[in-house]
Amino acid sequence: MTDIRVPVLIYYDPGMLGHNPQGWDPGHPEWTDAVKAMIALQSPDTNLETYDHPERPGRLTAIVDRLFLEPIEGVRWMPPVAASVAQLEQAHDAAYVGYIPTLEGQSGWLFQDTTAVSPHSVVAAGLAAGSGVCAIDAIATGQARRAFCIVRPPGHHAMADRAMGFCLYNNMAVTAAHARLALGDARVMIWDWDMHHGNGTQAIFYANPNVLLVDSHCEAPFYPGTGLLTETGEGAGVGYTLNVPLPRGSGNAALLEVFKQIVSPAARAFQPDILLISSGFDCHYLDMTFAMDETGYAAITQSVCALADELCDGRLVLMLEGGYNTKALGDSGHAVVNALAGNTITDINILPIDDGCAAVKEAALFHANNIALLSPR
Ligand SMILES: [Zn+2]
Repeated sequence: MTDIRVPVLIYYDPGMLGHNPQGWDPGHPEWTDAVKAMIALQSPDTNLETYDHPERPGRLTAIVDRLFLEPIEGVRWMPPVAASVAQLEQAHDAAYVGYIPTLEGQSGWLFQDTTAVSPHSVVAAGLAAGSGVCAIDAIATGQARRAFCIVRPPGHHAMADRAMGFCLYNNMAVTAAHARLALGDARVMIWDWDMHHGNGTQAIFYANPNVLLVDSHCEAPFYPGTGLLTETGEGAGVGYTLNVPLPRGSGNAALLEVFKQIVSPAARAFQPDILLISSGFDCHYLDMTFAMDETGYAAITQSVCALADELCDGRLVLMLEGGYNTKALGDSGHAVVNALAGNTITDINILPIDDGCAAVKEAALFHANNIALLSPR
């Protein structure tokens, strides 16, 4: 066991706990029914008489409390600053950036798939997007090379002009766009390993050849129903979106193969200036449809650390997306930070059968030409 301790900046602010939409609302039975239908689909064992909204403040405290109870050497807690209008407009339409603050102090339902706000959601969303911006600035000015943003509401379903899938601002898109500027016309690579397809991130950078997106996720028709192999970009961005749809039951081995067969060769061809990770912890077996555990999250984190060290001076930012089981969140969040801090991970649980591995091989074959055409400037 070799321990080469590395400073890890963690961006977190309790203001993000103020986003607390209710999962039920007697005045809006259609809203309540939509949340129940979603929970029944994604977590069939849930008691629909006693549930909370799945995207709840306890998701963050599960990770933060665990990191305080079992501290990891090298961690530095950093207070984020809310993203500015100009920073948000790098990823969102000006009209949408102007609309969200009008929801301050209100409760309401923004999108028929259950995205909602409570009175303090606007503050939380600004801090979530601003966390990534602050992490980029810290890395750009040499304060550290690795950061983890423990944020909510999540972001990767949010589109340029609308909220979706619990997401208000697309935190990752704001972060990637800021990285392009702060690091000097940078080439940015994103791996979205959340169990859901990051359709918002994909849409925002679909025609942009300076942002390479690899997105591994539970295959359609699972929510949001996009992320097909054939969605590879448009215009100048053709070939810069690499989707890896995986079957239910995919585990640690499958995600490690995504790294080996797609993320790693694509990164070596693209030569990014920074690596960004949309880190959902809903691939954990305690959550919805996948079968990963915290040892797998540690292993893929260790792999991306090595890749960032090799290709982009170690510049690496992880940003929390989904993950709805508090034990899975605490265990996975701690394991990921432990790997970011340079503690070597050796014990990885591998299932005897992992159907995801065959799907990764198929995706690697499908994308081989696109990966071969990626080239450094
Ligand atoms: Zn997710």
